[in-house]
Amino acid sequence: MSDAPLPVVFVGHGSPMNTLEQNRYTEAWAALGATLPRPRAVLAISAHWYTNATAVTAMTAPRTIHDFFGFPDRLFAYEYPCPGAPEVAAEVAEVVEPRWVGLDHDSWGIDHGTWSVLAHMYPDADVPVVQLAINALQPLDYHLDIATRLAPLRARGVLIVASGNVVHNLGAVDWSHADAGFDWARRFDEAARSVVVDSPGDVLTLTGHPDYALAVPTPDHFIPLLYFAGVAAADSARQPEVLIDGYAYGSLSMTCYSA
Ligand code: ZN
Repeated sequence: MSDAPLPVVFVGHGSPMNTLEQNRYTEAWAALGATLPRPRAVLAISAHWYTNATAVTAMTAPRTIHDFFGFPDRLFAYEYPCPGAPEVAAEVAEVVEPRWVGLDHDSWGIDHGTWSVLAHMYPDADVPVVQLAINALQPLDYHLDIATRLAPLRARGVLIVASGNVVHNLGAVDWSHADAGFDWARRFDEAARSVVVDSPGDVLTLTGHPDYALAVPTPDHFIPLLYFAGVAAADSARQPEVLIDGYAYGSLSMTCYSA
């Protein structure tokens, strides 16, 4: 294995239906998986494991969690049978010290924030995956700090994939605008792009943006961007770039980054 660090990726995952669909986003995710050096494991940070502790999955065979309602049966039947990576979970716990990360042996698994994307990146589910919980009790700068500590894992063959949405306001969704973004959504997404690409370490300045409250009514889908930015800021030799962008239903942005 080469010592060149793997990239870090942020994916705007959008609807769980992207698992089963083919569109320009899923094609970009598939192209990424096909072109990156094959990782030893994926460390996923998903908006959908937003809980009251910092933990990492440490089971050998994580279950596929269907953490949504109101979608077709074929989505509930979908399984992503990737192996876990208990040894990588132990490395996560080690590199974040003196911060503490609990090893989760039975409470979580792989949720749709992760598998809707990996279904396209690694369709054979043959790359081991661990998922890091987002500790909802911690302030935003805690997540940036954890991300900085995780950055060295990239040189150990771990691909860090943060999965959320930069703009994510389900209360404002307009189903008649499948590929459109409201003006405020576009303003915030463009402001985020400017900060993330040029100075990812300053990502928290976005909380002062006039459209922050509308774009980020709850922090769960925004915090994965902090993990991306924190890892990217730890290696200034690689400037973040936009992999693909776009909007969904007015109030979601689908922008994806790599660095
Ligand atoms: Zn989501």
